[in-house]
Amino acid sequence: MSGRKPLIAGNWKMHKTIEEARELVSHLKRELSDLSEVDIVVCPSFTALENVGKLILGTNIKLGAQDVFYIKEGAFTGEVSPPQLKDCGCDYVIVGHSERRKYFQESNEMINKKIKASLEEGLNPILCVGETLEEREANQTIEVVTNQLEGGLSGIEENQLLKLTIAYEPVWAIGTGKTATPQQAEEVQKFIREWIEKKYSARSASSLRILYGGSVKPNNIKDLMREEDIDGALVGGASLDASSFIAIVKGAL
Ligand code: PEP
Repeated sequence: MSGRKPLIAGNWKMHKTIEEARELVSHLKRELSDLSEVDIVVCPSFTALENVGKLILGTNIKLGAQDVFYIKEGAFTGEVSPPQLKDCGCDYVIVGHSERRKYFQESNEMINKKIKASLEEGLNPILCVGETLEEREANQTIEVVTNQLEGGLSGIEENQLLKLTIAYEPVWAIGTGKTATPQQAEEVQKFIREWIEKKYSARSASSLRILYGGSVKPNNIKDLMREEDIDGALVGGASLDASSFIAIVKGAL
C-alpha cells in the first residue's frame, strides 16, 4: 500500500452546455457524495465552471479548470487568470495537456509559468506529461518525459510540490481507445517518481500523486490501480457519462 489517496479527475474538454454540465454533476453528486476514500475532481469548460462550482460547493467533489493563463490580469484577450479561476470556485487546474501542447503550441516554458502562477494563487496544478507514438517508437519516451518534467517544474520549490499532481498521459492513448498496459504506464510512472526523488527527496516522491491518463474506462481502472506508482486517473471521454465516471471512481477504491 502506498498510503497515497487516489485521485480521479474528469476532463470534460470542449463538451457540455451549462445545463448538461449541471445535469452531469448533479448525478455524480447523488452517487458519490458519501465516498471519502477517493479525491474526485471535475474539470468543465470555463463557461460552466461557476454553475458546476455552486452545485458541488461543500461536497467531496472538487472543481478544476482545463487551462489557465499565467498573468493575474491585463490585456490578454480570451485568457483566464488564476485569480479568476479561484473566484469561480476552482481548487485544481490542468496544465500542459497534450492538446494544449499540440494545437496551441504550449511550450515547457509557458507551462512552467502557468504552474508557478497557479501555485501562487493556491490552485493545485495537474501537470500533464507524455510522449507521442513516434517518440515511443523511437525509444524517446524517457527523454521526452524528462524534458517535460525539467521544463515544467523548473524553479518549483520542494514545499510547493505538496499541491502538485502529475498526470502521465501517453499521447497515443488519449481518445484513441488504446490504453497503455498497466506495465507500460507503471514503467514511466516509476521513472517519474524516481526523477522526483532525485531532484527533491524520497519523502516528496512518496507523497506525490501520479495519475495515468489515456482511454481509462470502467473495465481497465482496476488493473491500472494495482500498479504501485499509479495513484489515480485523468479521464477524458469516459468522464462525460455519469455512470462510467462513477464506475471509474468506484473502481479506484
Ligand atoms: C485526456 O484528455 O486527458 C484523456 C485522458 O482523454 P481520454 O480518457 O478520452 O483518452
